[in-house]
This record gives sequence, C-alpha cells and structure tokens, in this order.
Amino acid sequence: MNAIFLGPPGAGKGTQAERISAEHDLAHLATGNLLRTAARQRTPMGLEAKRFMDAGDLVPDETLFGIVQEQIDAIGDRGVIFDGFPRNIAQAERLTSMMDEVGRQIDAAVLFVLEEDEAVRRISGRRQCSTCGHTFHVEFAPPPPGPTCVRGTCEIIQRDDDREEVVRDRQRVFREQTEPLVAFYEERGLLRRIDAQRPADDVTEHILAVLLDPA
Ligand code: AMP
Repeated sequence: MNAIFLGPPGAGKGTQAERISAEHDLAHLATGNLLRTAARQRTPMGLEAKRFMDAGDLVPDETLFGIVQEQIDAIGDRGVIFDGFPRNIAQAERLTSMMDEVGRQIDAAVLFVLEEDEAVRRISGRRQCSTCGHTFHVEFAPPPPGPTCVRGTCEIIQRDDDREEVVRDRQRVFREQTEPLVAFYEERGLLRRIDAQRPADDVTEHILAVLLDPA
C-alpha cells in the first residue's frame, strides 16, 4: 500500500500518518519533517529551505526531489505514506515517475477535508518535538509537563510557521498550488475523501477502511 495524504495545513495528516505507519509497518515520508531537520542541522539545503518555510511558501521542487528520491530508495519492501508530498502538479508527475522507476505505484490519494477556520484553530494549539517531530496539541493531545518530549530529552516547540499570519499564507498556497491535485488524482481514480473534522480516532478508522479497501 502506497498512499498520499493530501490536505490543507492543520488537517491532521502528520498525526494520522505517524499513527498508521507505526501500527501497520509503513514508511512515513514527511517532507516537512525532513526539511525542518535539515534546517536545524544548518545544512546548505536546510538553510535555503527555511527561508521559504518561514514565509509559508513552497520550497522549490528541485531542492526537494533529491531528498524524496533518497527516501524512496531507502524504503525497501514496505509500503509508504507520503505526508505533505506532492504539493503541486509538477511534484505529482515526478512522484509518478520516481515510483515507476522502482516498480511501484500510488494506490490511493487520501484527501483530508475540513473548514479553514478549524484548521487554523488546530494549528494555533499545535506543539512539536524539535527532534523526533512528534506532534502534540495543547487541547487534544497535551505534551507532558515541562519542556521535553515523551521520547527523550528533546525540546517541545511551536513551529515558526505555525504563527497565524504564516498559517493564512500556507492555506492560500494550498488553495492555489496543491488543490489542483484533487482533480489530478480524481482523474486517475485514486482520490478518496475523508472527513477530517471528526475526532482523530474516527479519522484513523475511516482512513484504514479506505486503504484496506481502496477500490
Ligand atoms: P508541513 O510540515 O508539511 O506543513 O510543511 C512545512 C513547510 O515545509 C511547508 O509550508 C513548505 O514550506 C515546506 N514543504 C513541505 N513539503 C513540501 C513540498 N512537498 N513542496 C514544497 N515545500 C514543502
């Protein structure tokens, strides 16, 4: 099973991908997490990417394709959840050819549907471990007391691009650049819609039903 999780920022793609990949032994390829790690490590690519991320813009395709290719090559026999990739038509086309090259195909594109105001509300409460990328929410999944994450000594932070003014830009970028992927995957018979407004456990159940019976 190779699936794409598609949807606006704050829809819960990362939370669901983290859960489902852990429980079903799938690789979780989250381009946002990879870029944040590179930015934290201050690699030339990471520093370049951070300028775009802080402004809520997409990182240029060519910067990303290298890291996505590396990750696909490293997946082995497992299935994969693509979280936050592709985000425009050029990336979707490139993903199709990268998967072809390794004899794989995308089985489903799961579209997380929710109101923009609800997405913004969720993001404002979001917190993240700066090292492992695990996400918390001050209301729905509170982080442990103190500044460190459950998995170690890492720090719990609010992402720079989760500030409200940047979030609105990210929503606009989603509408303009990523939403055309809905038609792209619909035409290929791969699109599956999920009501992402429901509680997280219901969303997980719905996604699993869709992935296990993608036809
Ligand atoms: P995310 O963690 O998926 O919300 O991504 C955070 C930020 O990383 C985005 O706002 C973009 O700046 C950048 N980013 C992540 N994935 C991509 C992608 N597929 N294409 C371009 N930029 C991306």
